[in-house]
Amino acid sequence: MEPPRVTFPHMGDYWIGFKALAEELDCEVVVPPKMTARTLEIGTRHSPEFVCVPFKYNLGNFIEAIEMGANTIVQAVGGCRFGYYGEVQAAILNDLGYDVRFVRFDAGRSVLGVIRDFRDKMCPQLSLRRVKDAFVLARRKGAAIDAVQDFLRKNLGFQVGDGDMENIEVRFLSRLEAAATLRDIDALRDETLAEMNAVPLVRPDHQLRVGVVGEIYLLMEPFSNCDVERQLSLRGVEVHRHLTMTAMIQHSIEGYRHVDDLIARSGGWVRHHIGAHGTESVSMTHEFMEDGFDGVVHLKPFGCMPEVNAMAIMQKMSRERTFPILFLSYDSQTAEAGVRTRIEAFCDMLEMRKGGVVRV
Ligand code: SF4
Repeated sequence: MEPPRVTFPHMGDYWIGFKALAEELDCEVVVPPKMTARTLEIGTRHSPEFVCVPFKYNLGNFIEAIEMGANTIVQAVGGCRFGYYGEVQAAILNDLGYDVRFVRFDAGRSVLGVIRDFRDKMCPQLSLRRVKDAFVLARRKGAAIDAVQDFLRKNLGFQVGDGDMENIEVRFLSRLEAAATLRDIDALRDETLAEMNAVPLVRPDHQLRVGVVGEIYLLMEPFSNCDVERQLSLRGVEVHRHLTMTAMIQHSIEGYRHVDDLIARSGGWVRHHIGAHGTESVSMTHEFMEDGFDGVVHLKPFGCMPEVNAMAIMQKMSRERTFPILFLSYDSQTAEAGVRTRIEAFCDMLEMRKGGVVRV
């Protein structure tokens, strides 16, 4: 049997953490190429038409990685349709004639359960301790990405120089890939945040604050959402998002306590868990509203039931509280120009509401 050459689907810059995890466990890694229109075109061509769009992106990633030599695919599964992604993708790849091993592990378990499942399926010869250490290193890389990108979302729209923060981010990501210890990762994160803090900013008098909520894949993979957060930043908006990889891991440690907490914090807008991250979308929108934000952008893959459920409640919230919410629905036909136009119109409306001057 050939030695495993492992690949996984892209989700933002978290590939750096996934790659570190696999390498720590002595696996050869094939990182799928950067997402492009080709990724989506390949994924769409071989996917069932009405499946949600993250499935199509994942499948495109897998086929591109197989073309680069990958022979083992690692895919998480969870609640909603995500539960059968791995099963269906394995069947499709098999029908296409690709000879690959598909390793599925249940992301809905406790963290220790996930680590144990991963060890048993990927590297049963290694001790649980070693696998746990590899997860800790990967998680710390993910947390460093979240800290730096959270700063970017909140400040990028106000930098005076062109591209200063983006250049710092590019350098950070390439150095993060090479960072080998927890101490190196923490030092790099702190150094990067200090560098970004030193970039001169000018904030307008009528500064807008917008929260972004929605389905987790769209939230975390900028290519799939047509770079919504950056587009908001370019319009001079301070962008906030609660759902990150760090938050997601923390939620799986808390288990059902997290869902109960979300319901308790939703101001009565939601009484039962509505699946995947739908409850989160409602609860976070309520918090953004209470915190005096100017609006919320909601990202939903076409046909995603948990977010369709959330949307119905959020429309009521928007109506009853006169709170602006922009609903964006994505499928494989969604064009970047269309999303950009809607973001521009939304920001203009928010600026007029706030009494500011609309940019032209
Ligand atoms: S949350 Fe929605 S888009 Fe994501 S896998 Fe589930 S059904 Fe599909």
